[in-house]
Order: sequence, then structure tokens, then C-alpha cells
Amino acid sequence: MDGTQKLKGAADAPFYLPQADECEIFRAAHANSLPLLLKGPTGCGKTRFVAHMAAELDRPLYTVACHDDLSAADLIGRYLLKGGETVWVDGPLTRAVREGAICYLDEVVEARKDVTVVLHPLTDDRRILPIDRTSEEIEAADGFMLVASYNPGYQNILKTLKPSTRQRFLSVEFDFPTPELEVEVVMRESGLDKDRVQGLVRLAGKLRALKGQDLEEGVSTRLIVYAATLIHQGMPLERAVLAAMIEPLTDEEDVKRGLLDLVTAVFG
Ligand code: ADP
Repeated sequence: MDGTQKLKGAADAPFYLPQADECEIFRAAHANSLPLLLKGPTGCGKTRFVAHMAAELDRPLYTVACHDDLSAADLIGRYLLKGGETVWVDGPLTRAVREGAICYLDEVVEARKDVTVVLHPLTDDRRILPIDRTSEEIEAADGFMLVASYNPGYQNILKTLKPSTRQRFLSVEFDFPTPELEVEVVMRESGLDKDRVQGLVRLAGKLRALKGQDLEEGVSTRLIVYAATLIHQGMPLERAVLAAMIEPLTDEEDVKRGLLDLVTAVFG
């Protein structure tokens, strides 16, 4: 699972509304060839932020969604059989290192342990990627930057970022935007009017307050955007909210009923 996006500079940059000084930190990290770690819950804008900054800095972007089966070879590359010949094919990390691109490892803690070993020589001042299989040692091209994200909320003892790894990155903490900013984001993303977006954001605030009690996770900005998009396209509000902001959060019928009462309380 990797994708590359090449955008033509800041004018084409996908919309991103900053929460604080994260854009300055990203620019400074990039200018000084430092790796960056984004911490925060799912759906709060981390991926969009990286896509925006890559476009602004005019760098290609390789995004890898990490999962528990993702190994170092998936990032670095492997020998593949092509037309009867064995050829080496670079993985997304290797391509980014060679091209001076930005490589974004989303949910890096999910990946297998051997991935962190690969990242260490890239995240100190050597900035090299050793490839054992080809006996190459690639020096990162100018402009290369490693960005990783993780959700501290999902951590357990088995899946955590070791101090020796996290202390190699600059880190920025993300959270859901303030209500004012979130209204702006959702309006811009969905096209829905301010009144109804404000209601959805108020509802999200109430749902987030239930985190740790009835709900494991609060509702993400992404889900509010989904609800607003459905409503904007004509779906009745309650149906859209149920599909986008309630069903994704819980399977418990009584909890769902309680959450629907909140919808009535907010929208009357
Ligand atoms: P994450 O990577 O943190 O899981 P995403 O970057 O995929 O989250 O964000 C999910 C969606 O929320 C985006 O597609 C976008 O619609 C919206 N979003 C969240 N925060 C912002 C923001 N600050 N500016 C613009 N869009 C945002």
C-alpha cells in the first residue's frame, strides 16, 4: 500500500487549515533535514497536513499506510521476477531517498520491528539507507524527509515506539481542531451551510466528551466531513449522522440510542 503524489507547488496544495505552528515546524524540519513525528488521533488532519506541506515544498510524496505485516523489505524493495529475469525493484522508502522526496509512514508503530532498524541510519546525521540485498548504501538526496505518525491512544505495551526511535524525531502533537476551526474545515470540505455544520461540530464535542466512558474513541473530523457531505447531497440529517458519526463509533444498541438522544438535543 503506497502511493505517490506529485503536485505542482503551493498553488495546487490540498486545502489545509493550520491548528497552530505546525507548518513552521515542518518547514524548519525540512530545511534542516530533520525527521518529524506527528502524534495524534485518527482523522484529525495529519495526512492532509503532510500532503499540503509536500505540495508547498514542491517535493514528491510517498505515503505508506503501515500495518502489522509491513516489513522492511516492503519499504526498501525486493528482487522480483519480471519476464524470466530477476530484477531489483525499489520500495517507496528507497525511491524517496533517491529522489529527495518526502516519505510519510502513517501509523508507524503498526509495522514490524525490522522497520525501525532501517529508519535509524536515515534519521541521524548519516542520512543513509543501507540495502543489504544489493550491498548498496544510498545517501539521501537533498530534499528527502522522513515523516511518521502514530496514535498514542492506540498504544499498548507490545506496540509502542521505543524511546531510542522516538528520540530521533522532532515531534508535533495534533488534536481535533477547535470548534471554530473545525466548522471552517467541515464547511470547506463538504460545502454544507454554516448553521448545520455548527450543529454537527457541537454534536461532535458532546460525542468526544464520552470518550473513555461509553466510547473508546471520539468522533474524528473526517467523520464530521462525511456526515456533512451526505447531508449536503440531500440525505436527511439524522440518517447521515447515524451512518457517519454514530455507527462507526459503537456496536452497542443502547449506546447508539443514547447517542441519538444527543442528536435530538443538539438539532431539536
Ligand atoms: P489523519 O491522517 O490524522 O487520520 P486525515 O488527514 O486523513 O487524518 O484527515 C481526515 C479528513 O479531515 C481530511 O480528509 C480533511 O477532509 C479533514 N481535515 C481534518 N483536519 C483538517 C485541516 N486542518 N485542514 C483541512 N482538512 C482537514
